[in-house]
Formats: sequence, structure tokens, C-alpha cells
Amino acid sequence: MDTPLIEIELIEDALSVAALLSEVRSKGEMPVCRRCNDATKTIAGVLVIDAIDEHWALCGPCWREMPKAAYAV
Ligand SMILES: [Zn+2]
Repeated sequence: MDTPLIEIELIEDALSVAALLSEVRSKGEMPVCRRCNDATKTIAGVLVIDAIDEHWALCGPCWREMPKAAYAV
């Protein structure tokens, strides 16, 4: 699997996450964890990928498993 080198932003402060999630809901989409697709889990953080204009919501357990160091460029 190719891993393109693109700029991403990790958003994990509660206010910003809540703002992004309400934005997602306003588009008629459910903010579900991108990794496990478990709608019952609370979203803990959002990955903003500017290059493809995507927001990836991640639940608590998935967020903690994410290798953040890999993105700290
Ligand atoms: Zn998850």
C-alpha cells in the first residue's frame, strides 16, 4: 500500500473536535470512527487531510493506537 507524503493535522482538543463533528453532521453524515466504523464509540480526535480535503474521525481506542510520532514531521 502506498503512503503518500501529505500534510495532515491532528485535532484532539475537545472544542475543535466538537466543531468539526457538528460540521460533519450538518452535511447529513454521521461522524463514525474511520478505522473501526463503530458508531457507538465516542470520537476522540480528527485527522484533517488538507490534500484530499478529508476529515477522518477516530474513536478513543483507535486514536490512542495511532502512531502519532510517525506524523510529527
Ligand atoms: Zn475506532
